[in-house]
Amino acid sequence: MKEKLAETIRLYHLKGWSPATSTNYSFMEDGQIWVSRSGVDKSNFQAADFIPIDENGLVQAPFQDIKPSDETMIHVLIYRLFPQAKVILHSHSKNPVLISMKHKETFSVGNYELQKGFSGVTTHECTVHIPIFENAQDMGYFEKYLPERISEIQQHCFLIRQHGTYAWGENLFAAKRHLETLDYLCECELAQ
Ligand SMILES: [Zn+2]
Repeated sequence: MKEKLAETIRLYHLKGWSPATSTNYSFMEDGQIWVSRSGVDKSNFQAADFIPIDENGLVQAPFQDIKPSDETMIHVLIYRLFPQAKVILHSHSKNPVLISMKHKETFSVGNYELQKGFSGVTTHECTVHIPIFENAQDMGYFEKYLPERISEIQQHCFLIRQHGTYAWGENLFAAKRHLETLDYLCECELAQ
């Protein structure tokens, strides 16, 4: 998993989704969460750049001296709230950043063939709703509002205003599909 996810991270960097060392990624394997370490140029992200954390986001031995991402707590919360999640991807792609500035609490979009990229959506003849959260530095914000709005999080992803997206899945394949579907829908809506 480390190698495959590291490869995805490098590919997403080529798409411009993680400039200036930004974004973070994680996976859970055999009950252990591994998260990307902070400050790494994503064009050169390697399997060895994942560090283990516990269920509260604390870095585990022998990696205690390595800094995890500031947003590690968001990963922990997603694993807690969505037990089926095994891979979490975060993007700073411009498309969702721009979309988040055009909508208030929810990005609603419908009738696109590609919305079937979200697990559970079987037709283009419906509208999907993606919640938008504020760009809080205080992780207490996410601890409060992710559980509070959990019923709105139906498509395995959400937006953070003027920041980016989080998407997850039961494996890397599903997580990628969800992230790329959301980005595509944002791009189409922006182009209108
Ligand atoms: Zn971010």
